[in-house]
Amino acid sequence: MHTDCIILGGGAAGLAACAALAEKGLRIALVERLDRIGKKILSTGNGRCNLSNADMNPEYYGEAAGFVSKVYGVTPPREVLGFFERLGLMTTAEEGRIYPRTMAASSVLDVLRNAVDRENVTVLTSEKAVAVTPSRRGGFCVQLESGDSLMAPFVICAAGGSAAPSMGTDGSGLELLTQLGHSATNVYPALVQLKSSHRALKSLKGVRVQAELTLLIDGENAASETGELLFTDYGVSGVCVFQLSRHVAMAVGDGRTVSLHVNLLPEVLPAALCPWLENRIRLFGNAPAEKLFTGVFHRLLALAILREAGIAQDLPAHMLSAGQKTALAHAISCLVLPITGTQGFAQAQVTRGGIVLSDVEASTMASRLYDGLYILGETLDVDGPCGGYNLHFAFAGALTACKAISETFTK
Ligand SMILES: Cc1cc2nc3c(=O)[nH]c(=O)nc-3n(C[C@H](O)[C@H](O)[C@H](O)COP(=O)(O)OP(=O)(O)OC[C@H]3O[C@@H](n4cnc5c(N)ncnc54)[C@H](O)[C@@H]3O)c2cc1C
Repeated sequence: MHTDCIILGGGAAGLAACAALAEKGLRIALVERLDRIGKKILSTGNGRCNLSNADMNPEYYGEAAGFVSKVYGVTPPREVLGFFERLGLMTTAEEGRIYPRTMAASSVLDVLRNAVDRENVTVLTSEKAVAVTPSRRGGFCVQLESGDSLMAPFVICAAGGSAAPSMGTDGSGLELLTQLGHSATNVYPALVQLKSSHRALKSLKGVRVQAELTLLIDGENAASETGELLFTDYGVSGVCVFQLSRHVAMAVGDGRTVSLHVNLLPEVLPAALCPWLENRIRLFGNAPAEKLFTGVFHRLLALAILREAGIAQDLPAHMLSAGQKTALAHAISCLVLPITGTQGFAQAQVTRGGIVLSDVEASTMASRLYDGLYILGETLDVDGPCGGYNLHFAFAGALTACKAISETFTK
């Protein structure tokens, strides 16, 4: 089959690119290895699809900030929202996070599907791209697992990363591009739950607490977050844990010591915790020590704090020694969880690492190795925090590439 552009991957970036190019009249073949397009989009934002953010500062993308800044220079955030508006999507913001007005991820997929449902677009589902070969006469030949092949002057690789393989992303986008000579970093799961070996966790499963978290790698502060922490039987979860997680898999893989220091009561300064405890003792003095935290912590967490401080739960609160009060204050302000790893790609929302950014021209998303080849989204060494940053990067990159392709495309 001969066409103008082959898009590998019918996910966020692939569908946005397809919609934008189809509008310009290009004949497109969209190749998706799953039996339907956009499966991952439906799971994003807990089924609500947090597609962007009111604050799209490129600095949030860490080491990739310079690259992202150039992409957002060509396609500013308001243009991405304008694109979705043109497709028919109304959006709403919640604490800066932008969602479809319906609060249903299916609305995002519906408008994208509607936009690609055109005569000039052929959607090939249950077809996996296994090789991209530059043709001697210019353009590319894409080999499909089924044995079929496709030819086009333009190829967009939007096959995602390695996170959430059950949603189609098995890392094959990286393979396709490295076979062509592109360089890739190691890849790691990010925006993912963390595993800990702390003995208290089994009893804390399901307990939530507002906490301040500091991730330490070999004793050095790597990052901090404040928010709701969820204890699980394997470790910890919650948005603030996800935000810290990009540092973990690489550090653990390198044999470094990783720990999470949890301040369970950030509202009270650590130095003020002993006087705070004295107040609690005045309030609950004759009651057993476990009652000291009534109205502050979940009972299971109160028991875990006492165990951590080596204090019997039935010891009358007024009998706590000065040393025991100091131990309690420490257990509250700095519960140390040894971190043994992450829940892996199966549970991760994004991939840290990918095709190196020096192989791609940020103002067009074009490969620097081949004319006509474009690389988008999570296949690249770009990952953002929770908050709509990863979908936004996928969409903005897609629109950036489409501008460049439309400019060079001649019928
Ligand atoms: C549970 C979950 C929740 C998330 N929530 C959010 C959120 O609310 N906000 C946010 O910004 N980000 C969120 N993300 C991250 C976001 O979904 C991704 O970063 C984004 O989808 C990446 O877009 P992409 O187009 O690069 O890749 P994907 O959307 O992953 O699409 C890649 C597509 O390529 C297909 N494919 C792969 N290999 C091949 C091949 N060889 N041939 C053909 N097809 C192939 C895959 O099946 C897939 O459909 C979430 C991720 C997950 C897993």
